[in-house]
Amino acid sequence: MRIEAPSLPAPQTHAAAYARPALSVVVPAYNEQEVLPAFHARLVPVMQGIGLPWEVVYVNDGSRDGTLALMLGLRAQDARVSVVNLSRNFGKEIALTAGLDHAAAEQAVVVIDADLQDPPEVIPDLVAAWRQGYDVAYARRRAREGETWLKKATAAGFYRVMKRIGGKVELPADTGDFRLMSRRALDALLALREQHRFMKGLFAWVGFPSVPVLYDRAPRAAGETKWNYWKLWNLSLEGITAFTVGPLKIATYLGLFTAFGAVIYGVQLIIRTILFGNPVAGYPSLMAVVLFLGGVQLMTLGIIGEYLGRIFNETKRRPLYIVERHVPSEMAPKAGPG
Ligand code: UDP
Ligand code: MG
Repeated sequence: MRIEAPSLPAPQTHAAAYARPALSVVVPAYNEQEVLPAFHARLVPVMQGIGLPWEVVYVNDGSRDGTLALMLGLRAQDARVSVVNLSRNFGKEIALTAGLDHAAAEQAVVVIDADLQDPPEVIPDLVAAWRQGYDVAYARRRAREGETWLKKATAAGFYRVMKRIGGKVELPADTGDFRLMSRRALDALLALREQHRFMKGLFAWVGFPSVPVLYDRAPRAAGETKWNYWKLWNLSLEGITAFTVGPLKIATYLGLFTAFGAVIYGVQLIIRTILFGNPVAGYPSLMAVVLFLGGVQLMTLGIIGEYLGRIFNETKRRPLYIVERHVPSEMAPKAGPG
C-alpha cells in the first residue's frame, strides 16, 4: 500500500510584487508578554546590523496572556514582523515547526527563544559562520548561569545517555535549538513530519556541514520557565524512543539472563535434594524472585508500550498543528517594473 504524504499546511508565500527576505528569525512564544517587547527591541538593531533583508516570525503557541496582542501590535508598527497564531498550545517543538513552515526566507533561518536566554547579539556570529559556507551554525552554551547544579547535572547525564545509544546521529552537547540553518538544511528538516518531534535529534539527523558558535547563556530575563524535571524526563523519553530501538532489546537480554540464572539455580536445587534431602524452605526468596520477575515483566511491557503508543500517534497522520491566523510580513516592494 502506498501511503500518501501528509498534506502540509501551505506556507503563505509572499506576493510576487514583494521581495522575499534573505533571513527569517523564528521565535516560538508561550506566555511571554513580560519579555516579548524587550526581545523585539534587542532583536531589531542586531538584525539591522547584518545588512540583509530580514523578517521575524513570531509564533504564538496558545498563550493565555497578552502575547498575541503584543505580537499583533509589533506587526502593526513593523512590517518585518510575521505573526502565526496557533489554535491552542501545541508545545515548543511544534510551535517551532509551525514558525519554520511559515518562514519566507530565501537564504537562511535563525531559531531563537523569546525569553532572551539566547542572546540575539549572537546572531551575527551565526550569520558569519554561515557566510563561511556552513549550512548549520548552532550556538553552544559556554556557561549556564542561573541554573541549579542539579539541572546542569541532569542535562549532562542526558547528553551522555543519548550519546551512548544515539547510534550514528550525534547530538552536540550543550546545544539547544538556538541556531541558524541554510534554506536547503531547513527544507530537509521540514520534510520530516513526525508527530513526536525531538528537535535536537531532527536537527542532527538532517546533517550538512555544521559548526558550533560559543556563547554565554543568560538566565531568563522575565516570565516563567516552562521547564521542570518531569518535562526533562519526557523529553529524554522522546529523544530515546525517536532515535533508537535499543530499550526494546532490554527484555531479550533480561530474559536470557534470568533464564540462565534459573537453570543454574535449578541444577543446584536438584543436587542439594539428592545429597541432603528436601527440607522445605525459602518463602522469602520465592517472593523476592516472583516480585522481581513481575517487575521486570511490567517494565518491559511498559517499554513496548512507549513504542506502541508512538506508533499509534504516528499512524493517525494528523496535521502537526492548526493555524488560527497568519499575518505574513511585508518586505519593501520589489524594484523595477511590475
Ligand atoms: N515555548 C512554546 N510553547 C511551549 C513552551 C515554551 O512556544 O509550550 C517557548 C517559550 O515561549 C520560549 C521557548 O519556547 O520562547 C523556550 O521555553 P522555556 O524558556 O520555557 O524553556 P527553557 O529555556 O527553560 O528550556
Ligand atoms: Mg528559556
